Amino acid sequence: MLDKVVIANRGEIALRILRACRELDIKTVAVHSSADNNLKHVLLADETVCIGPPPSVDSYLNMPAIISAAEVTDAVGIHPGYGFLSENADFAERCESSGFVFIGPPSDAIRLMGDKVSAIRAMKEAGVPCVPGSDGPLGEDNDENQRLARDIGYPIIIKAAGGGGGRGMRVVHSEASLIAAITVTKAEARAAFDNDIVYMEKFLEHPRHVEFQLLADGQGNAVHLGERDCSMQRRHQKVIEEAPAPGITEEQRQKIGERCVNACLEMGYRSAGTFEFLYQDGEFYFIEMNTRLQVEHPVTEMITGVDIVREQLRIASGEKLDIRQEDVKIQGHAIECRINAEDPKTFMPSPGLVTLWHSPGGPGVRIDSHVYSGYKVPPFYDSMIGKLIAHGHDRDAAFARMRNALTEIVIEGIKTNVPLHREIFQHAAFQAGGTDIHYLEKRLGLK
Ligand code: ADP
Repeated sequence: MLDKVVIANRGEIALRILRACRELDIKTVAVHSSADNNLKHVLLADETVCIGPPPSVDSYLNMPAIISAAEVTDAVGIHPGYGFLSENADFAERCESSGFVFIGPPSDAIRLMGDKVSAIRAMKEAGVPCVPGSDGPLGEDNDENQRLARDIGYPIIIKAAGGGGGRGMRVVHSEASLIAAITVTKAEARAAFDNDIVYMEKFLEHPRHVEFQLLADGQGNAVHLGERDCSMQRRHQKVIEEAPAPGITEEQRQKIGERCVNACLEMGYRSAGTFEFLYQDGEFYFIEMNTRLQVEHPVTEMITGVDIVREQLRIASGEKLDIRQEDVKIQGHAIECRINAEDPKTFMPSPGLVTLWHSPGGPGVRIDSHVYSGYKVPPFYDSMIGKLIAHGHDRDAAFARMRNALTEIVIEGIKTNVPLHREIFQHAAFQAGGTDIHYLEKRLGLK
């Protein structure tokens, strides 16, 4: 097992990684910015290194500072968490070339999946269903592009190969605006991602977001842990996630899960990874793969009993997966609310001193958060301050526990989106299950 691990992240996920390390007797090094001296995992870690001033570019994105911290503390591995450098192939490569174990996939897998055109090509080869679209990048021939769009059928969407975070996409409803849309998306993609390759897909009008969790050991073994529904979104940001996805049959789960497993094996994937699909009218359409641990991984852990971070650490140590597909059993239902330090109506960030933090509890209730009474939420980073997760023997039971937990939780001193969650859990359509990715924004009058 790895002897000592640098946790190259902050907040709840850094604490989550620290807990998994401790269970495995792995020593921890918390690297943090000067704004984060009081983070819970920094207080709990075996060693700490301040790697720079508050702005992320100078600290959590500062590759040389993180690698130096690993060197001076004699660490063996580096866990990137999510966000920051977690999907940066250059960082993974630099970790490895400096002699550290990057706790994630090989850098070439990150690179392959980071380019959406190459990702889709790899998925098609592995038999993973994709959105009907151009076979690769769009060329310069306007007539050919118009013909392609007509064949696919409007509306279509132009997407940048290097896009991310919901940027670099443009929906086109008719031929009149196609050529201009391609030109503009290319120009934007060149400016934003330094890569002007774009491709075309059928635009699905009322999809759900359903994603599959995978684990692979890079030694010929991979399993899927079923799917999650993350359709409750605002501005492409997930707000609530649940597992399993309402209405997905065991047959669909095994069929799509198996194809994702094949894709992992074919690309020599290692560690945890997520295959994101749009799901509409009973069909799955791959859109992208996330080559890292995800915020919403706990709902999968709750229904499968598999500790995904522990598995990442074991795999990075060179151990083989000890779970076989037939061992993966889905038990009950789990749901997660992302708790953000923000105004529940205007969504303006609300950093500051948390004067009182009271966690809910009871059977099936889990809270992943670094916040405590007296903690000051800094203004420099993402506004998510924790995740509340409820598990029950079925979806209704999980909902009932979540409603209780949302009533019990007390956070004073800053504004949070807890009131919004309380309201959403009263929506009949959400309760019924299967709402699409536009539901929340429409319902909140934002669309
Ligand atoms: P990013 O890397 O920016 O997150 P994705 O390819 O995952 O890009 O797409 C982000 C979001 O854009 C999706 O979650 C979905 O809401 C929307 N989207 C992407 N492709 C399509 C499509 N073909 N049809 C409908 N919506 C799409």
